[in-house]
Amino acid sequence: MSDKTSSPSLAASPSQSFALDTIGRIESDYPDKFGIPRQPGLVRASRASLVLLPPYDDPLTVRGLEDFSHLWLTFVFHRSPARWTPLVRPPRLGGNAKVGVFASRSTHRPNRLGLSLVELMGIDTSRGVRLALRGHDLLDGTPVVDIKPYLPWAESLPEASAGFAPEAPPQRPVAFTPEIEAALASRADGDSLRKLIVQVLAQDPRPAYRNGAEERRYGLRLRDVDVRFRAVELEGGVAMEVVELVQVT
Ligand code: SAM
Repeated sequence: MSDKTSSPSLAASPSQSFALDTIGRIESDYPDKFGIPRQPGLVRASRASLVLLPPYDDPLTVRGLEDFSHLWLTFVFHRSPARWTPLVRPPRLGGNAKVGVFASRSTHRPNRLGLSLVELMGIDTSRGVRLALRGHDLLDGTPVVDIKPYLPWAESLPEASAGFAPEAPPQRPVAFTPEIEAALASRADGDSLRKLIVQVLAQDPRPAYRNGAEERRYGLRLRDVDVRFRAVELEGGVAMEVVELVQVT
């Protein structure tokens, strides 16, 4: 590459740091990191609220935003360590192969910044500003540092190539025992919680190196329940079976 592009000032100056303000916090269906989908859009049943903080909670800051269906959120992986390494092991590659941190969407990265495209379901400005969101991949409590409307004419590139992650991960079937179906049916949010469980477990949240059926039981938190599940062999292959729902107080 010719060096016409490299300016002497850039080469000389050490990297600069910038202070970022948290403009709002996420309240989401995901109290823990385990089980959160690896990208937005994979679990459309996931709901969240973005509650803006003063002075950003002035309704003027979101005037006109209601006309956009999707938003880019820039946030901080506040529950990831600040340290980073040049190479990371994407789960998509089974947790073995390594790629450059900037060739990945790893949570362990310089500046710990995340970027997610989420669906805007509504805006409540009765007390400050609260954005209702759907299809996200954000832990409860995530600090958000910027919001931008999504521009499909500028940002949707279906023909783009995507390296080691060319398409959405495969989905697993999800099965419920009759007892779990009854427990869900007795809840006021039973329908939406069932959809959320199906879509989250269909991603097979187990560590990447776990592939087949196994006896081991896993537990993941969604809303106020601990969902206990295991991987079983069914006719069509490996499926996720929900075996217990434990109310978490
Ligand atoms: N879409 C974003 C991106 O590309 O920058 C996030 C991708 S990252 C692979 C998604 C994972 O981040 C989730 O599965 C969850 O485990 C983790 N995560 C979400 N919110 C987090 C937070 N506040 N702190 C640390 N990890 C978080």
